Amino acid sequence: MPMKTVRLPSGEDVPALGLGTWMMGDDSRKHADEIAALRRGMDLGMSLIDTAEMYGEGASERLVGEAIAGRRDEVFLVSKVYPHNASREGTVAACERSLKRLGTDWLDLYLLHWRGQYPLAETVAAFETLRAAGKIRHWGVSNLDASDMTELMGVPGGDGVAANQVLYNLSRRGIEWDLLPAMQELGVPVMAYSPVEQAKLLKDRRLATLAADHGVSVAQLALAFVLDRDGVIAIPKAGRAAHVEDNAGALDVVVTDELRVALDALYPPPRRATSLEMI
Ligand code: NAP
Repeated sequence: MPMKTVRLPSGEDVPALGLGTWMMGDDSRKHADEIAALRRGMDLGMSLIDTAEMYGEGASERLVGEAIAGRRDEVFLVSKVYPHNASREGTVAACERSLKRLGTDWLDLYLLHWRGQYPLAETVAAFETLRAAGKIRHWGVSNLDASDMTELMGVPGGDGVAANQVLYNLSRRGIEWDLLPAMQELGVPVMAYSPVEQAKLLKDRRLATLAADHGVSVAQLALAFVLDRDGVIAIPKAGRAAHVEDNAGALDVVVTDELRVALDALYPPPRRATSLEMI
């Protein structure tokens, strides 16, 4: 299957549709289904996998480690450091622990999960240390708004940022006002988290009708909306292979001007600046 890609500032292309893993690895009864879901996603080219030390306090990273065992080279692996660990030494130590849980020697992208008590300059310096040591290939941020991004670009090495992962979906379009255009201008991808609003969008009857009219599933329509934007990567979480397969179909949805207008009517774009929302 041809995978749509998004270009990192380094020039490297990564899958535009990946796999989220929050709340995976927590329940042993779901273990086999979750491993199968992640592996099916890799088979379908959705080989950007997003995890974090926070998810299940390491349980998600351990699950991902198991799913990618023997297939590490196929995967663009993303993890995140807790803000309370994001000091100069704490970031390096947290990364070492994540690598161990993931059973790998390197991360493809390491993100600051959200802004905390440590200055951005300190975390960036730690990221650069990790990069020089070959422990991470790229670093980025998460939940940073437009003014945070401006501040980041002003700290030493801050312009090395490779991505900003933020909440973005049909029902959370605030970033279209300022952050998304700013990121597009910088040439730094946005990673859209909770792209189906943690399944809430899938229950919207009006969206279901629109999806049916276009012969696609609601999840496919919601994901196609996100993927229609330049420089945006979507990372839906799906704990079952059938849901992963459904999501992969989003890449085949043709988003016409008529469909964009219909989606705008259901979920209007922002008319003013709003604070960045988080889940
Ligand atoms: P999400 O991806 O919007 O929604 C996940 C939910 O949707 C799950 O209940 C899943 O069910 C269901 N689902 C997915 N595809 C489906 C389909 N085709 N049909 C029916 N149900 C479907 O929410 P999310 O997990 O919050 O966000 C995605 C990822 O973004 C996370 O897993 C995490 O990696 C990342 N994230 C990052 C942050 C941050 O602060 N940086 C915050 C939140 C999330 P099943 O599991 O049963 O398949």
